[in-house]
Amino acid sequence: MQISSVNKQVDFTEKLTRVLENRKDITIQKYPLEYKKGKYDFLKIASKDINPQDPVLLIRAGIHGDEISGPLTIEHYGNEIFDAAHKAGIKVIMYPIGNPSGFSAGLRYNIDNDKGEGNNDFLRYELEDGSLSGDLGEGKIPFQRFLWASDPSLAIHLPLETELMHKLLKEDPLNQIKGSIDLHQDYLTPNAPPAAYQYVEGNVQEYKPIAQEVSKICPLFNNQFIGAGYQTQINESGQIVGNPLESEAIKSDENASIVRYDGSLTDLTYRLGTPYNVAVETTGATPIDMACKVNLAWIYGFINLIKKHSVS
Ligand SMILES: [Zn+2]
Repeated sequence: MQISSVNKQVDFTEKLTRVLENRKDITIQKYPLEYKKGKYDFLKIASKDINPQDPVLLIRAGIHGDEISGPLTIEHYGNEIFDAAHKAGIKVIMYPIGNPSGFSAGLRYNIDNDKGEGNNDFLRYELEDGSLSGDLGEGKIPFQRFLWASDPSLAIHLPLETELMHKLLKEDPLNQIKGSIDLHQDYLTPNAPPAAYQYVEGNVQEYKPIAQEVSKICPLFNNQFIGAGYQTQINESGQIVGNPLESEAIKSDENASIVRYDGSLTDLTYRLGTPYNVAVETTGATPIDMACKVNLAWIYGFINLIKKHSVS
């Protein structure tokens, strides 16, 4: 299968709904988001009948609207993903287009260019001196406690799509989420060849077999200094206007993993007790169908890990 482009003529949310709507074992819900420049539906697709003892895999894609491989992975492999998870006794909650207006317009942030403090904004750490931080880097900075970024006491402005995601997540069975996957692409690291790497939290020593699977699909961006998103300055249209010094970049390990507590969705799920958390990245030079296969390898890898640890 060749996955190479998005047909903007067809509303992608509708297309994704059509791919999955005949399934009897899922629910598809749409939540309207009203921006100044237009109205867009936010999608949640979840296994039906999530019982209190069921392990759950959370998948979110497309929070950065120009990173299309995540939503396309759900479009092309959504049925296989639900089939594989259900066969393994795992329920799935998917937010397949985290930023629908950005996706539609090909923008990193939403159509109103309201990015808040970055639209993947999920938590704040209260440090020992009482100050707040949204990024502990590799996690060597001690902190007293964490708060959801939407905590009213913080009064942080969140973009509409992020605010809605917070609200919906709080209604999800958070203590049952055993794996949390966030699908991204990296268009920011300069001159990067086709390659895959990942930001990770949790029992990351168990990710080696998944990285090995990924390496059969796409070269691993391992033992590399990666600047994307870490003190990278990005302007209104998502272009890089300043790169971090190499000394400030984080180096990926031999599995292409970077442990990073950056206030993102996967950092939040880790703090809430999810043992396996990953933000999958493929560089912008990676062909889209290859990027989708990398995403799928992580999804199947997490299904295997959850299954292995849920059998009692
Ligand atoms: Zn991203």
